[in-house]
Amino acid sequence: MSGQILIQNAKVLTMTDQVQQVIDADILIEGQYIKKIGTITDLDKDVEIINGKNCLALPGLINCHTHAAMTLLRGYADDMELMPWLEQKIWPQEEKMKGEHIYWGSMLAVLEMIKSGTTTFADMYSFMDEVAKAVELSGIRAVLSRGLIGFKDQNYAALKESKDFVKKWHKSCNGRITCTLAPHAPYTCPPDYLQKVLEAAQELEVGIHIHLAETKQEFNDILEQYGKTPTRHVYDLGLFQVPVLAAHCVYLTEEDIELMAEGSVGVAHNPTSNMKLASGMAPIPSLLKAGVNVGIGTDGTASNNNLNMIEEMHIASLLHKVSKLDPTSVPAYQALEMGTVLGARVLNLDNEIGTLEPGKKADIIFIDLNQPHLCPAYDLVANLIYSAQGSDVKTSIIDGKIIMKDRQVLTIDEEKVMFEARRYAFSMLD
Ligand SMILES: [Zn+2]
Repeated sequence: MSGQILIQNAKVLTMTDQVQQVIDADILIEGQYIKKIGTITDLDKDVEIINGKNCLALPGLINCHTHAAMTLLRGYADDMELMPWLEQKIWPQEEKMKGEHIYWGSMLAVLEMIKSGTTTFADMYSFMDEVAKAVELSGIRAVLSRGLIGFKDQNYAALKESKDFVKKWHKSCNGRITCTLAPHAPYTCPPDYLQKVLEAAQELEVGIHIHLAETKQEFNDILEQYGKTPTRHVYDLGLFQVPVLAAHCVYLTEEDIELMAEGSVGVAHNPTSNMKLASGMAPIPSLLKAGVNVGIGTDGTASNNNLNMIEEMHIASLLHKVSKLDPTSVPAYQALEMGTVLGARVLNLDNEIGTLEPGKKADIIFIDLNQPHLCPAYDLVANLIYSAQGSDVKTSIIDGKIIMKDRQVLTIDEEKVMFEARRYAFSMLD
């Protein structure tokens, strides 16, 4: 059978263990799947061999929350208060975006993500057919959803469009694309609207992606309006009956954390965005202790301003040390679990990705270890979280296909993508 790839001589971090363990092993990929890890003997004649010498092979990184096409707004407006930033800068520019802006913005995002080790991302935006086309063409994996602003969607046209998008793209591209429904937030989607979305999610058998308890203002407004915390509010509406991907979750009470642990809720932690917009610090150690699955997201580049998951894991680890005044909080391996195996659980893809083991889809990245800032190597995981850069990712395999080799992305014309992204970004300045 053709379509075999053999990775030889790499250090392998499978992420299947509770404690970190790096092994010397070969990895055999057949078709989309990892076939074997260990000593490999049974090979096809036309097997493609990758020399993993001086590399660390690990599961591809999972970006649990972003708005890919916001790359076009990278650096457009910074260092502002949240509401003037949104109302005067971000929302007026987003109003100007058409399908082509979204396509090239998404291509730029996907290119940046592949080059910094991300193999799966969860996206919420508009013109989602364009995002899906970028995913289809590039070979990356994604969980896609159209953002829904309930109070603007009086006739449910956007919800209908969202349902059509799910019907068209869910489980498409050999399973690389899955879909969710995405009511933007409790403060933009009234209760009756959230219930409509829940019914649609149940009918389509997909999950829900929502911003939840991001700011102090949201927490106070929902409390004043409904007499409940944002988490209790959506719980009482029945949202947690379906798998929920809740982004941010900065303002949670102890009871909120219990409700999350009880339902099928996964949290996307976005430390850089929460710091840059001065939203606050999510209680990640408490969520993890309660058994809630927590993954890591970059959020959009307008509030980050990049899509570098290695940097995001680094910041997540540091943030919870300083927030708890405890250097043992969120150790390196736990940060890496959030970026891989826990992220897969948050996206309901843990049967397919998140670890390296036979039977899983082959989403594997290779870190080039032969670099000054990764030398010496007492602890490869500590080096990865505290010293590595996104640009240390040398090769990336997604769904059993080599997507980047020796830093060259094989599926995307990089110069063309940057040219078009610049062109469409500047076209919005008129
Ligand atoms: Zn967001």
